[in-house]
Amino acid sequence: MSAGKGERVDRSETMRRVHGRDTSPELRVRRMLHAAGFRFRLQRQDLPGKPDLVLPRFGIALFVNGCFWHWHGCKRSRMPSTNRDYWERKIARNVARDRVNIAALETLGWDVRMLWECELTAATNALIAELLARDNLAAARAHCRPTAIESGAASGV
Ligand SMILES: [Zn+2]
Repeated sequence: MSAGKGERVDRSETMRRVHGRDTSPELRVRRMLHAAGFRFRLQRQDLPGKPDLVLPRFGIALFVNGCFWHWHGCKRSRMPSTNRDYWERKIARNVARDRVNIAALETLGWDVRMLWECELTAATNALIAELLARDNLAAARAHCRPTAIESGAASGV
């Protein structure tokens, strides 16, 4: 899969939506991360559950979840009054599959994050703030390194 493609929101948006990919909440997250200067890869087909995007540098696998389909339990997750059995079974399968995928990703060492549709902007901003803080910390450590090496040499290590 190529990285970085797909910044354009265009007429094929509807098509993508039909195929369950590149839904607009996902695009919003991508745009926000991109604007904050973070690079990511899209749809790693080889990973369990095909995370919507991964941030390899941070070891983060990200899912942008629809509240109903993945059953967030918020106001947006409400069972339709018709065909209730059908929907309950379907959602239960989704939730079970999500659990298996999350566990598999964690076993592979990924830090799995869920961004829920109902709190997308706030959650994405929080994630960006966290990533920026981690970057700053890394930069601070890199900046301190020469001193650490010097003191190590001085103590005869
Ligand atoms: Zn929700």
